[in-house]
Amino acid sequence: MKIAILAGDGIGVEVTREAVRVLLEIAPIYDLHFEFSEHLIGGDAIRRVGNPFPDETRAACLESDAVLLGAVGSPEFDRLPPRERPEGGLLRLRTALGGFANLRPSRAYPALVGSSPLREDVFAGTDMVIVRELLGGLYFGEPRGTAEGEAFNTMRYSTDEVERVARVAFEVASGRKKLVTSVDKANVLETSQLWRATVERVAKDYPGITLEHLYVDACAMHLVTNPSRFDVILTENLFGDILSDEAAVLTGSLGMLASATIGGKVDLFEPVHGSAPDIAGRNLANPLGAIASAAMMLRYTCKNEGAADAIDRAITKFLDAGHRTADLAKQGAPFFSTSDTGALIAQFAVDAANMVHAYHAV
Ligand code: NAD
Repeated sequence: MKIAILAGDGIGVEVTREAVRVLLEIAPIYDLHFEFSEHLIGGDAIRRVGNPFPDETRAACLESDAVLLGAVGSPEFDRLPPRERPEGGLLRLRTALGGFANLRPSRAYPALVGSSPLREDVFAGTDMVIVRELLGGLYFGEPRGTAEGEAFNTMRYSTDEVERVARVAFEVASGRKKLVTSVDKANVLETSQLWRATVERVAKDYPGITLEHLYVDACAMHLVTNPSRFDVILTENLFGDILSDEAAVLTGSLGMLASATIGGKVDLFEPVHGSAPDIAGRNLANPLGAIASAAMMLRYTCKNEGAADAIDRAITKFLDAGHRTADLAKQGAPFFSTSDTGALIAQFAVDAANMVHAYHAV
């Protein structure tokens, strides 16, 4: 597999290095062959070639099987117009790759339930993925504009757009707890009625998966009162934007969160956090979100569940053993550096993989 590495700025560089380390160490056990190539994006690219998304990067990404991104953004470019800023490069990357389904897992690691803003007994057992439609709805609908004393946007969906993202959600659920919760506002919006009817039709192709519907306002409440009831939440762009941030904050640390954007020309995997200039270059960043994003690449692009599970188990083992990165450690308590965390996760992932192999050999 050809993997384009776009480490970007700040801690993006540090966490991506650890994700690659874990992939390299686990690859031989699963007979995976990775060809990594590194390319410029963001502030680093502006400094070197004057463009946050150089043509060379675009071409290399489009020739790859997947893109692993770190993060972009640097205060020195904050005064540039939006398109010329590092973040403009990221938007152009996402557009070039064309992924229409954004996947954001949100999970209560037993060792970290105490870090959630929710009560431990409410958050314990939570393990969900939000599948958000990314290229349609209110953010893209035409007409849009402003007139004297008013402004307007259009929420528009076609059945094709709903169907393709619904299929992603059912596929994801088929490898999990087999429950899809489709979230809409079908009591008010025509787009939601089309959404609901289309999802119902797609569900017939997945008889092993349970489908339920929830209005978005009810879903927002359930996320904070009973998050462990969810498996896969399927929703449109605007609702998904809001709900995925709500679900993310439940986990208690930005550094833990992974994401995938799939369905386009090339799949994109990236941690949810930014370049964190406040801690960049000090080996303090939590690389677990980036490493979990690499695990998502193994699961969704390489279709190698075993390798992905080994990394996920390694993260759980690291935390269960009481190890903490700087962002997770209590004030004054010892913590693991970015590189030590990566090294230990790689070792745990290899151990987990070898244990499964030994079990099958027996
Ligand atoms: P941020 O996510 O970079 O940081 C927010 C806070 O969380 C900081 O205190 C940071 O130290 C901490 N943090 C984030 N990730 C961490 C990790 N892995 N380990 C430990 N601590 C972590 O958000 P911000 O400060 O609002 O933005 C900084 C820059 O990143 C800006 O230029 C912004 O535009 C950019 N940004 C990029 C992306 C992206 O590349 N996808 C996303 C968000 C923000």
